[in-house]
Amino acid sequence: MAQIKTIGILTSGGDAPGMNAAIRAVTRAAIYNGFKVKGIYRGYKGLITDEIVDFKTQNVSNIIQQGGTILKTARCKEFTTPEGRQIAYENMRKHEIDALVVIGGDGSLTGARIFAQEFDVPIVGLPGTIDNDLYGTDHTIGYDTALNTIMWCVDRIRDTATSHERLFFIEVMGRNAGFLAINGAIATGAEAAIIPEIATPEEQLDQLIQNGFRKSKNSSIVLVAESPRTGGAMALAERVKEKYPQYDTRVTILGHLQRGGSPTAQDRILASRLGAAAIDALIEGQRNVMIGDDDEKIVYVPFSKAIHKDKPVDPDLVETLRRLSI
Ligand code: ADP
Repeated sequence: MAQIKTIGILTSGGDAPGMNAAIRAVTRAAIYNGFKVKGIYRGYKGLITDEIVDFKTQNVSNIIQQGGTILKTARCKEFTTPEGRQIAYENMRKHEIDALVVIGGDGSLTGARIFAQEFDVPIVGLPGTIDNDLYGTDHTIGYDTALNTIMWCVDRIRDTATSHERLFFIEVMGRNAGFLAINGAIATGAEAAIIPEIATPEEQLDQLIQNGFRKSKNSSIVLVAESPRTGGAMALAERVKEKYPQYDTRVTILGHLQRGGSPTAQDRILASRLGAAAIDALIEGQRNVMIGDDDEKIVYVPFSKAIHKDKPVDPDLVETLRRLSI
């Protein structure tokens, strides 16, 4: 394998708090180890449109506390075509980039895997997504911040729910995963979470009602994971309105609120650890792996596993929520 001298770094797909901390860690660890660093703007799009600049330690000063990504991010259709990836590769060569660090979610790592195989480029991925849906890492960068944002929002909605004695369905992000919903529900004392990993949403809803939903309570909050498999909060609320008109039902969709904000300490530390480990991995000759965190230990997860294996929701969490919401 050719010696790596210059490392390119990009953020791709949905932005997540902590991406900046990861950019900082990768840049600083690379420079510390004697590599040159190139920042690639707008993810794969910038690789194709040649938005590539030298990155020094100063480029990443004062960003650890900022949400979003200073490198910008984009969704790039052209990169899904062999012609687009060919241009991306030519730009990599033009800038003498020998290896890439890609920070992003499931889609971005899928693109990285294909690109690495096609052009024999060493690529290391960092799990950057609020959804926590990448297999092989306990947590993804951005997840803890999003969870805390959800907690902040739901606490406020609870005040209204209690005052008006209402039933709120609150939709949270997560793509096809229920991590934000189930842990958000536990953290806010919600009555339930409707997630795609367990029974159908109708079954989950009916069970909730049969179990004496609301009982002596004067408000109820149900977190719903956005997913075609749950149908979303709006559809569930409609169903309740039809079947159980006695409930005063409301819906809140938290939407993009969940993606922004200054990263929590946990996300900053995770991003810093994983970012520095990405450079160690490249030095060790690793390629086509995502850097993960397993029980506080750094692990290298092959892209194929990180992307294709479904990360299970711990059944203990589901049970804990059920037991505590009586
Ligand atoms: P995320 O990384 O947050 O899951 P996306 O799913 O939107 O975000 O993916 C980000 C980008 O990754 C896409 O816009 C595209 O450029 C690239 N990508 C995703 N899937 C593929 C694929 N199958 N082949 C090549 N590139 C892909």
